[in-house]
Amino acid sequence: MTHTIVNPADETVVTTVAAASIEDADAAIARAARAQREWAAVAPADRARVLRRFADAVDGAVEELARIEVRNSGHPIGQARWEAGHVRDVLEYYSAAPERLFGRQIPVAGGLDVTFQEPLGVVGVITPWNFPMTIASWGFAPALAAGNAVVLKPAEWTPLTSLRLAELGLEAGVPEGLFQVIPGRGSVVGERFITNETVRKIVFTGSTEVGKHIMAGCADQVKRVTLELGGKSANIVFADADLEKAAATAPYGVFENAGQDCCARSRILVERSVYERFMELLEPAVQGVRVGDPMDEATEMGPLVSAPHLDRVRSFVPDDADVAFRGAAPAGPGYWFAPTVLTPARDARTAREEIFGPVVSVFPFDDEADAVRFANASEYGLSGSIFTRDLSRGIRVARAVESGNLSVNSHSSVRYATPFGGFKQSGLGRELGPDAPLAFTETKNVFLAVDPATPVE
Ligand code: NAD
Repeated sequence: MTHTIVNPADETVVTTVAAASIEDADAAIARAARAQREWAAVAPADRARVLRRFADAVDGAVEELARIEVRNSGHPIGQARWEAGHVRDVLEYYSAAPERLFGRQIPVAGGLDVTFQEPLGVVGVITPWNFPMTIASWGFAPALAAGNAVVLKPAEWTPLTSLRLAELGLEAGVPEGLFQVIPGRGSVVGERFITNETVRKIVFTGSTEVGKHIMAGCADQVKRVTLELGGKSANIVFADADLEKAAATAPYGVFENAGQDCCARSRILVERSVYERFMELLEPAVQGVRVGDPMDEATEMGPLVSAPHLDRVRSFVPDDADVAFRGAAPAGPGYWFAPTVLTPARDARTAREEIFGPVVSVFPFDDEADAVRFANASEYGLSGSIFTRDLSRGIRVARAVESGNLSVNSHSSVRYATPFGGFKQSGLGRELGPDAPLAFTETKNVFLAVDPATPVE
């Protein structure tokens, strides 16, 4: 079986990729298990050195990886370069981990008690199509650093950068079999990661629906699982905010990557007294988003990833939708969808469901309590923003919103040095930040009895 890779910007065929079978997946997992036993025995400083070399190899291939992502996923070239650079940075950051996976010495009676952070073994990473290489690195870099092997299943539509990363790893000295990319169907390869007992943990990023299925499947073997799932995040704009800044940045808080971003602030909540003014400022900002050829350096937003996904996004904007205004998008081939601003009721489908496209809904709110209540009226809780000049309010609301990643007067969500993940049905566990390698270890406690000293006369 093969999968045809299509360039979303012009619908031309880029290449075909062979889809692995269950037998292929099992063979790769067995190779990974052998490689992991040797890797765990490598001195920490030497493991660190291999990861630094891997980071260097990615650094040398930033432009190549970025161009692959443009053709495979339609990401604007500037964004794709950032993504490749981020993979390098994540590898570099976690290359420090092998020498810093400290255990503890715990005071107890009768001897010495120490803990060790032991690797899990083989880790299965399953990634979505929206940020193929960055999300892959959040799993494989800390997992390798903690002494594990990784088998990675990329999304069917976007395997190319992950495949290239595995080659770069090998060229840089990552041992054969330790980091393998196995393209294939979720229902075949992904499913096999769940049922194969040699895989000790699944790191899954994708839809909440598939995430629930994976969690239930992992229960059978009490397999460890990290889930990074959907979002419907709120961007809360208070009347005292720098409205010009809030309106100018709001499109980039939701339309980045054509809205195919789990952190997209797809609900904008605006204090009622400044709602009209905010909408006046938002309209030119939305119309100013540069949508077009992803290879053009000036492009800010490219196409959607595929024809089926375009159909799904379209289904949220029927002819009678409450469209306030729209931006522009190219005509002709490619999966284009113009940035769209809606003003639906709070209980409308567009207000509740993750659209994963360049569609944002704007709602007025009455006061701080109303804003927090509506922001939290979602099964999701991944990210969010608060715009206000009142620092106390910024902190109060950031603490009150049930979400894993908040930013005040900015739309920042992801930094490799800080933890990332969701509340409620947006996920389970955290990635990135200083503690990520620990999530790829088991804590082992060892007690060493010490004979009591002979009493000194
Ligand atoms: P998806 O759930 O359809 O697929 C994700 C991955 O799971 C793919 O590799 C797919 O092949 C695989 N898969 C599908 N069925 C499977 C099964 N039965 N067993 C094992 N694996 C299976 O998601 P998608 O459409 O690729 O990605 C979009 C979703 O990802 C959105 O909901 C988005 O919010 C979410 N996402 C979340 C984060 C986060 O960090 N929270 C980041 C990016 C994307």
